[in-house]
Amino acid sequence: MKINKAWHEKNKMPKNANFEQRVKWHIEHNKNCSCHPGFPEKLMKEMKKKGVKY
Ligand SMILES: [Zn+2]
Repeated sequence: MKINKAWHEKNKMPKNANFEQRVKWHIEHNKNCSCHPGFPEKLMKEMKKKGVKY
């Protein structure tokens, strides 16, 4: 597991990020960093419920 510090510095998760923002953030995060691959369980469930493709 490697953290891409530069990416994290440039891409802070917005405070009170909405569902869409969080999904987008994690998609970009998965492409650029592997400190915690995939999606948080809670977000994953919401994505499945809403049928969000990623
Ligand atoms: Zn990361």
